[in-house]
Amino acid sequence: MLDSDAFNRAVAKALVVLSFMTQLMGPVGAKEKPGAIAKPDAAVIECQRMLDAGKKEECEHQLADRLRIEPNNLDVRKLHAEALYQLGRFHYSVDELKVVLAARPCDVDANLLMGKALQSMHRPIKAVDSYEKFIALAPADQRTQQYKTLVRVLRDNNQTQGQQTAQSRAQAGNYLAAVASGAFAKWREPSAIRVYIKDGVGLEGYRPEFEEALRQAFDDWNESTNQKIGFIFITEPQTAQMTVTWTSDLHSPALKAEAGLAQTSYGADGIEKSEILLLTVDPFKDGPIGKNHLYNICLHEIGHALGLQGHSPHTEDIMGTTLYTQQGLSDRDVNTMLALYDSDRKDTADLPTTDEYGRPLSAAVKASHLSRAGSAAAAAGRYREAIDKLEAALKLNPADTVAQHNIAVAANNLAIDKATERDAAISLLHLALFWSQNDDAARQNLKSLLQATGNGKDAFALHLATADACLANKDRMGAIVEFREALAIKNDPAVRTKLAGMKE
Ligand SMILES: [Zn+2]
Repeated sequence: MLDSDAFNRAVAKALVVLSFMTQLMGPVGAKEKPGAIAKPDAAVIECQRMLDAGKKEECEHQLADRLRIEPNNLDVRKLHAEALYQLGRFHYSVDELKVVLAARPCDVDANLLMGKALQSMHRPIKAVDSYEKFIALAPADQRTQQYKTLVRVLRDNNQTQGQQTAQSRAQAGNYLAAVASGAFAKWREPSAIRVYIKDGVGLEGYRPEFEEALRQAFDDWNESTNQKIGFIFITEPQTAQMTVTWTSDLHSPALKAEAGLAQTSYGADGIEKSEILLLTVDPFKDGPIGKNHLYNICLHEIGHALGLQGHSPHTEDIMGTTLYTQQGLSDRDVNTMLALYDSDRKDTADLPTTDEYGRPLSAAVKASHLSRAGSAAAAAGRYREAIDKLEAALKLNPADTVAQHNIAVAANNLAIDKATERDAAISLLHLALFWSQNDDAARQNLKSLLQATGNGKDAFALHLATADACLANKDRMGAIVEFREALAIKNDPAVRTKLAGMKE
């Protein structure tokens, strides 16, 4: 049998490598004009001196100002990357280095700095790629030997750590049942969510390192889910799907509770927008929020914004109710996020039978699992599977309005696919109208099908005739729907009595 899980992993891995290569190579045509950097730049030399003298912030400000006027000056940008790196703003340093390397892929120092920044971001494998480029570009450089050794160490560590992580992660389980409720509570395309981060400069308590902590949190969700979750950082808010806003306003109780807040809006296809608010001041003591605490808050609020609506019952998870003791994402956090986004894959459609403590699931939780999986199948166009799961969900919980709505959508759409098989299509439309009496699309389709073979009978008579045919076939659901439809046309007492008799 084909191990499709392993196959999917292999494909995902191949894509990651490809996209990283693309980032490093940069777009075609972004090449620098020859001669543009030829003359020595007094300001760059001055900034380099400043940096050597430890005036990192001053240097960074000056270079940032200069880049606003002269965005294509790659020497300035490269030095800006160095200043950001020294300030511990590694993600921003990497952003700058990507621009530099897109135009100058063979820049020795830029490749080396990229390796150092990535290593500081705890991305050893990506760092090794950049170090190896540096080694290949500068074999005679006096630093090369030292980085060859470092590459070996990083590779070895990563191998042992990777094995340990995979093992402990597999044993950690997840808490999906506790945090996900609505059927469409996730992003339709989670691998490319457009994020806009509003600048917090000037707010009480705000420090530039907060933004680094925030970017690290986004990066950790991306990396730990094997790029299944991914973000594109944009500089204009108009097309953003997720926005992050810093605030020092302690008046909002919802915000104070966990020092951050994620507000999410849903559409028919899942999460459409998410707004994250983050406090720059500590709600429980005087002064700004500590960087590590803030990092945990960022991970937690991004977790909410990605669809983990509730909280983990385990205090050591980042999605636990209080944040202080956590050390970043736990294996269970990662497993839960992956389970949420895996649940619409056909090959993982087998639903859990026990909760995170190994206890059998209650009927209510089972119903909600089935409802969610069925709705996801419907959204993915797998109508037969959707109907099976949603019927099972409704058997356990007939009041599940999401399941009612989605089974009607799936049944109506499958009926359209099967329009040539008249009886099968009519049964499906009965199913749709049984669970969703207001589904006018299904009603219209049923009407057209009946009239097509109705020999000119009026609608009322057609519904009654079909109801009788259903009763003869012991199709109770079909008969109920047809009686209801007939009554909607004419409130006939005899039909009312027949329908009432069916509901026992
Ligand atoms: Zn929370």
